[in-house]
Amino acid sequence: MQFSRNSNRRLRCSPLAEIYPFPVQFYEQPPTENISLQDFESFAVERLKLLKSIETIGVSYIRASEPYNKKLEIELRKLKFPYRVSSEEKLDDYEIRRKDHISHFILRLAYCQSEELRRWFIQQELDFFRFRFNELLDKQQEFLKHNKLEYQTIASRSLPVIQSDERLQPLLNHLSHAYVGQDYSVQKNVGKISLEQIDSLAAKSYPPCMRQLHKALRDNHHLRHGGRMQYGLFLKGIGLTLEQALQFWKSEFIKGKVDPDKFDKLYSYNIRHSFGKEGKRVDYTPFSCMKIIMSNPPSQGDYHGCPFRHSDPELLKQKLQSYKTPSAGISQILDLVKGMHYQLACQKYFELTHNIDEVGFSLSHPNQYFIESQKFLSGSRDVKKESSQPENSQRSQGSQPTRSTSTCASKPTSQAVSADMEGLEELLSEGYTE
Ligand code: SF4
Repeated sequence: MQFSRNSNRRLRCSPLAEIYPFPVQFYEQPPTENISLQDFESFAVERLKLLKSIETIGVSYIRASEPYNKKLEIELRKLKFPYRVSSEEKLDDYEIRRKDHISHFILRLAYCQSEELRRWFIQQELDFFRFRFNELLDKQQEFLKHNKLEYQTIASRSLPVIQSDERLQPLLNHLSHAYVGQDYSVQKNVGKISLEQIDSLAAKSYPPCMRQLHKALRDNHHLRHGGRMQYGLFLKGIGLTLEQALQFWKSEFIKGKVDPDKFDKLYSYNIRHSFGKEGKRVDYTPFSCMKIIMSNPPSQGDYHGCPFRHSDPELLKQKLQSYKTPSAGISQILDLVKGMHYQLACQKYFELTHNIDEVGFSLSHPNQYFIESQKFLSGSRDVKKESSQPENSQRSQGSQPTRSTSTCASKPTSQAVSADMEGLEELLSEGYTE
């Protein structure tokens, strides 16, 4: 595959109809055409959203069942991926097959970098293939004959070549951790939350990752760097102003071993920095679930991270009990955690603690959790109340353990992704205090 910075020109030796005779393919050959970096990124993000949807649907419905097929079909239509032979095929049909082809290879490069990522990618691609192969109906034999059922294993051998491309390597490295949801660095509620409300908001509307950080801060009057970053940016995202943030952290730290002068000297710079008031003045983005789950795991004495990913199952169970999670639901959550569906486990926690049947959103960000909870508690969001037979009880019996490694939400925000990464790297490079 060749990539150009500006060109959208395609070099093909044969028409699209010949290259893509079916809406499903074995991806035997990588694409050889030139594509723009914009296409590269948008194709990757769209496929990432699709694979995340495939994972979510695969955990909620029995594969190949009618509701499973219907939900998947809706997603494929929405994201414009091919899945069915039509009687009169148009240029558009071939264009989306081309997108399918190219996006598969981009994500293959991004997800070949570790065994864990490979397993997740293969699982979702397998489910995608299975659905589309079944949709071929009487064309199945033709498809098999066309492909001779011979294919070679390709894992990561293209990587060394790609790694030498300085434009693509950072993008590929971050893609498997990338957040493609709403940008929560734009705060709509700035100044609308008072510091007195925080304890009550933590109990009602914080996701477990932030609740655990808040409790540790109140108990110990201190958080280490990873915790301050994760919690501080979350607080900024829910609407704390810089002045409130400084007051909040200072009032807590001086109850412990830090005197006011030491706080001003050692900690306030980092807080101002995270609000874009120091250093390169990057307005840091609150961390997404993906970033919390996949990077900087907590060590002894740390409270950051995702409790569904980083807590021992017995400890997680105790935490859930202490948060008054209904006991019937705790085992469902632990099952999801066992299958490495951390974000789905968190969605289940949301359902149980808000007494609703279905969250109605795909969780990808702690600030999203907070906003949805506040909407629900203020009555501004319609939700299905808990019924006697929750829909998620149809969870696939045959589902394989997979990692919930990607995210999905309303619109791709590549700027948010890059600001997030750049910002973090800049802050870490400027040093910090424990
Ligand atoms: Fe926080 Fe996301 Fe983990 Fe939920 S899944 S606890 S929001 S990091």
